[in-house]
Amino acid sequence: LFVEDALSEGAEIALADQPANYVRNVMRMKEGDGLLLFNGQDGEWGARLSEVAKKRVVLTVEEKTREQTPQPTLRYLFAPLKHARLDYMVQKAVEMGAGRLSPVITRRTQASRVNVDRMRANVVEAAEQCGILSIPEIDDPEQLSRTIDSWPADLALIFCDEEGGDPAAALSSLKGRPLGVLIGPEGGFDDAERAMLLRVPSVVRLSLGPRILRADTAAVAALAVAQSIAGD
Ligand code: SAM
Repeated sequence: LFVEDALSEGAEIALADQPANYVRNVMRMKEGDGLLLFNGQDGEWGARLSEVAKKRVVLTVEEKTREQTPQPTLRYLFAPLKHARLDYMVQKAVEMGAGRLSPVITRRTQASRVNVDRMRANVVEAAEQCGILSIPEIDDPEQLSRTIDSWPADLALIFCDEEGGDPAAALSSLKGRPLGVLIGPEGGFDDAERAMLLRVPSVVRLSLGPRILRADTAAVAALAVAQSIAGD
């Protein structure tokens, strides 16, 4: 369970309403029951329910069960989709090892506004579900051109494009390097965006096969490829 509190032996933590409701009413946990906590910095800790009341659920932190793991270097860049599809894509990116999520606005991006709070709630829920201890960062949405203008020299970019090649050799040259993976909007990239992306040093234009994948499908496929290269 994710908590915002500092975690140390003997700490008493009163849960916020949403997790309190989850523990009491969904998990139907009782005093004396144990569960695992993490806050994204202090590793994973065992804790025991010391109070389960209508208005309050309190835990007493006991022992550390896992050391904190470093934030994965994999950066996932994507044109935001509409609500439920965006929820799904964000959760899959976390499950597939993204350590930083960067919504980028392209000419054909459908969702003009992005609810970052909703995105963060999905990231935390996915982290709890897949058992990671670090909470991926979420950037504010930014124009793709601005993101590319400030692209870090040491970060390789895998830009997924149905018109891309099958650059097995280029991908192997990225082995062990910090990676960014970029998926376009449902309407795809336009030619000006492709030209700009191809000017990024250490860019690889990756085809994910001959079929047109929906953006959330492409996200999982591309991150699986990136995982196999990034290795962290
Ligand atoms: N431009 C396509 C069209 O309208 O014909 C649709 C784009 S696709 C729905 C959304 C994004 O998923 C693309 O911008 C690309 O990043 C990725 N994608 C989809 N199919 C892909 C493929 N076969 N290879 C690589 N990337 C793909």
